[in-house]
Amino acid sequence: MEKIAVVGTGYVGLVGGAGLADFGNTVIGVDMDEAKIRTLEKGEVPFYEPGLSEVVTRNVKEGRLSFTTDFASAVEECGIIFIAVGTPEGEDGAVDLSQVDTVARDIGRHMTGYRVIVQKSTVPVGTAVRLRRIIGENQSERYPFDVVSNPEFLREGSAVEDFMRPNRVVVGTESEKARETMREIYAPLYLIKTPIVETTCETAELIKYASNAFLATKISYINEMANLCETVGADVQTLAYAMGLDKRIGTKFLHAGAGYGGSCFPKDTKALVKIAEAAGCRASIVAAGIEVNQSQKRRMVEKVIEAAGGSIEGKTVCLLGLAFKPNTDDMRYAASIVLAEGIRDAGGTVRAFDPVAMDNARRLMPFVEYCHDAYEALEGAHVAALVTEWNEFRRLDIERMKKLMSSPAVVDCRNVYHPSDFEEHGFTYIGVGRGRHDVESS
Ligand code: NAD
Repeated sequence: MEKIAVVGTGYVGLVGGAGLADFGNTVIGVDMDEAKIRTLEKGEVPFYEPGLSEVVTRNVKEGRLSFTTDFASAVEECGIIFIAVGTPEGEDGAVDLSQVDTVARDIGRHMTGYRVIVQKSTVPVGTAVRLRRIIGENQSERYPFDVVSNPEFLREGSAVEDFMRPNRVVVGTESEKARETMREIYAPLYLIKTPIVETTCETAELIKYASNAFLATKISYINEMANLCETVGADVQTLAYAMGLDKRIGTKFLHAGAGYGGSCFPKDTKALVKIAEAAGCRASIVAAGIEVNQSQKRRMVEKVIEAAGGSIEGKTVCLLGLAFKPNTDDMRYAASIVLAEGIRDAGGTVRAFDPVAMDNARRLMPFVEYCHDAYEALEGAHVAALVTEWNEFRRLDIERMKKLMSSPAVVDCRNVYHPSDFEEHGFTYIGVGRGRHDVESS
């Protein structure tokens, strides 16, 4: 079996590279970020992802996984090249493909024979064609190559498990030879009967966006229902529970909260709207979901102001959790950013604690006072806002909170608390969509 180069050792590239090595392949992780590669060479993982360090260490030790910044040698040495670089949002919401283009150009320049190029980054429809063109234009000699679209569906926080036991694998290519190579790479997944969807590049590229946009829209849907619940005095927790009992709807992604964030949903939904526009179509449901999400994040600022009695001018707000979701240190598009900036702009001071995301948060929000634990962050606060539902925030000592805070008020942006637990201790409790929270067991 040919060696595999995985270009990009971020969340997807590192988890994917380590996972492919665990499947028995020999993998070289390539990154232009020298500091990242040095960290990996020391046996450390440069970001927080549960269970990843063990898989990386095991495969490095067994000689199946190594790291380099030497792109040219990796492309010379490996017959299969996975592209897992970033595809961030560009200025107008469309995807910025510059990292992918650079990698394609450099693959073309350095390839020395037949190569299978596997696109793992999330990229718009038509990128496989674009890759073929850029690689072809940059070759020094005419070497044959095939392009595969193999989008990744892992979730940060459970990325290792998601990669090792995915719900499905999508393989888009026009080449039977490349399809056969992919079957060999993913052989262990065939053994555990993982559904493998073999299709064209265009369909594979669109499957990723359609899946993410559907999930994001489901979140916006329940958030819209939560806002309606607040107005009519209904309880969204019970509403979502009852909706989810219908197997056609399902319970997942029906949790009202502060809106979706992270490195994927916000940019992928915007990208899908742009992809549709470029194709002369309208993705109006997705566009509406984006709008609902943006206003949901701002709504959390209003809730904090309401909990503070109408103004937070000169007051202090404690944010419990900053990462866009638990079990990650990723701060990209986190709801905490809109909340912290909104509080600052309304004249308030922000104190915060997050178990792992504070180093990343400091770079984005230097105006926040970062604390060593939840109780230190609560000292002197007029309002506590639960922003990221880390387990350690689920069972806080409410009496201790009350003693530490300047006034007893909590905004539960994730609906993790029972309102009465706080209200019994004299707290003002504001959740999301809990108009009249008469049912607490759901
Ligand atoms: P990331 O920003 O964490 O990592 C990208 C890495 O690529 C960085 O380490 C960067 O230094 C490296 N890189 C950029 N240009 C390079 C070059 N020319 N040569 C070598 N290395 C280069 O990104 P990520 O979160 O891993 O996402 C990668 C892709 O996967 C994106 O398209 C994203 O949408 C998609 N995706 C992400 C997730 C997720 O949960 N993070 C899930 C599924 C899909």
